[in-house]
Amino acid sequence: MTDRYCVFGNPIGHSKSPAIHSRFAQQTGEDIFYEARLAPIDGFAAAVRDFIVHGGRGANVTVPFKEEAFRLCDRHTPRALQAGAVNTLIFASNGITGDNTDGTGLVQDLTTNLGTVITGRRVLLLGAGGAARGALGPLLAEKPALLVLANRTAAKAEALAEHFAADGPVEGCGLTALAGCHFDLVINATSASLGGEVPPLPADCYAPGALAYDMMYGQGDTPFLPAARAAGVTRLADGLGMLVEQAAEAFFVWRGVRPVTQPVLEALRQP
Ligand code: NDP
Repeated sequence: MTDRYCVFGNPIGHSKSPAIHSRFAQQTGEDIFYEARLAPIDGFAAAVRDFIVHGGRGANVTVPFKEEAFRLCDRHTPRALQAGAVNTLIFASNGITGDNTDGTGLVQDLTTNLGTVITGRRVLLLGAGGAARGALGPLLAEKPALLVLANRTAAKAEALAEHFAADGPVEGCGLTALAGCHFDLVINATSASLGGEVPPLPADCYAPGALAYDMMYGQGDTPFLPAARAAGVTRLADGLGMLVEQAAEAFFVWRGVRPVTQPVLEALRQP
């Protein structure tokens, strides 16, 4: 019997996850069917239970349900506990396990796909929402020299940095505190790009050879990338690779088989 998986979100029509997982299934010979499911804003838990009743084996979770998914789970993997949010659900007869593959996907994209060294480097992570929280543990596990977490609302970045203080050298601050600082890797984990905006950064915050990485993705450049280019940055990447890598990690969690991501990423990049 074909095993069923899905991604829950609201909205969900734009999701690339069904296309990604269909390609993974084709490539690995795994017999799965993966679809996008719109969950009502006030009906996420009911939508999950309905999917389980109808034979669902697992699911991904996207905006705005990752924190509700965390609360719904009977148990969590260590990286889901660290992130405080769940993007991958595993259904079994003894309950629901919650995992979070976003941060692992980001680090995999940075290190393997983009050849970026994090170890010993200075990293700037912009934002203090769910995406930043999920990224912090896996980024610190790579042992950067320093990770500065900067957010529009400084207090949120300071609180989050405090929470992760035992995991590595992390400092929280507001965006205005970045003057005079230089970074080898600047990751935009704010949702500013969604509104066509760019977090205000000092032009000299990019060290020579720095990579500017926007977690957001779309057709063409996201607003963050031309702003980095104007500041002299030549290494730029959007978050499509992260999306494919977090999906590959979820596929591995469910199926025990690791798909090859490069051809899937190349296919998604085709106009
Ligand atoms: P949240 O809503 O949880 O957090 C939003 C963050 O952005 C907050 O820190 C907020 O600051 C900041 N922000 C919003 N608008 C602005 C602005 N105009 N200027 C400066 N800062 C701003 O969002 P998520 O963390 O869930 O998502 C963040 C981004 O990451 C989204 O673009 C999302 O699409 C992307 N993402 C990509 C993934 C991938 O696989 N590629 C996976 C997950 C997320 P404040 O606290 O001051 O409000």
